[in-house]
Amino acid sequence: MRLVLLGPPGAGKGTQSVILAKQYKVPHISTGDILRESVKNGASLGLKAKSYMDKGELVPDDVVIGIAAERLKMADCKGGFILDGFPRTLKQAEGLDEALKGIGSGIDLVLYFETGEQVAITRLTGRRVCRKCGFNYHIKNIPPKKEGICDKCGGELFQRPDDTETTVRNRLVVYEQQTKPLIAYYEKKGVLKKVSGDLDVQELNDVLSKVFSEAQLV
Ligand code: ADP
Ligand code: ZN
Repeated sequence: MRLVLLGPPGAGKGTQSVILAKQYKVPHISTGDILRESVKNGASLGLKAKSYMDKGELVPDDVVIGIAAERLKMADCKGGFILDGFPRTLKQAEGLDEALKGIGSGIDLVLYFETGEQVAITRLTGRRVCRKCGFNYHIKNIPPKKEGICDKCGGELFQRPDDTETTVRNRLVVYEQQTKPLIAYYEKKGVLKKVSGDLDVQELNDVLSKVFSEAQLV
């Protein structure tokens, strides 16, 4: 199964990706995660990316296309992959097409997580992340047992610098302007499938199982 997850920040792409990767045993590729890892390691890529990320702007296309293309060449992607948060611009979508052609592959399905703006804002501003294991919580929807502490590993929870309300609003504007055109791009290719990102985690996962069996991907 070779999937692209498309939708605004806060649509739940990351959450579903983690579950789907386990269910269908394919790697979850998040350009956001890869970039944050580089920031954490102090890699030169991270230094370049951080200023964009903190403002909620997109990291330049050539940088993320390079990251994704390298990752897709790795052996574990042979049996499929879930791309989460890439592509985000038309230029990136074209870069992805090129990269996949280069490895004799293609996309089976683009899932578009259609999500209301208020739902996205509430989810993102309430999100807390474990500093140690990266697990995502939400102060209301998925609270940890003990405030500020990860249930899974005891790590400290923190708010991503780009999850503050002002930056979240900017990310949504960036999404409208730069990413939304991808809906038409993939519709034209006949691979787009719209689902509701407003559903809760389990409901959406059930919907996706049906979509995959209908598309004969499982
Ligand atoms: P979200 O989907 O919730 O916005 P991500 O973790 O996917 O969060 O991305 C966080 C930030 O990383 C983005 O705001 C952007 O700066 C950068 N980023 C991630 N993926 C891309 C991409 N494909 N193109 C450009 N920038 C990206
Ligand atoms: Zn943890």
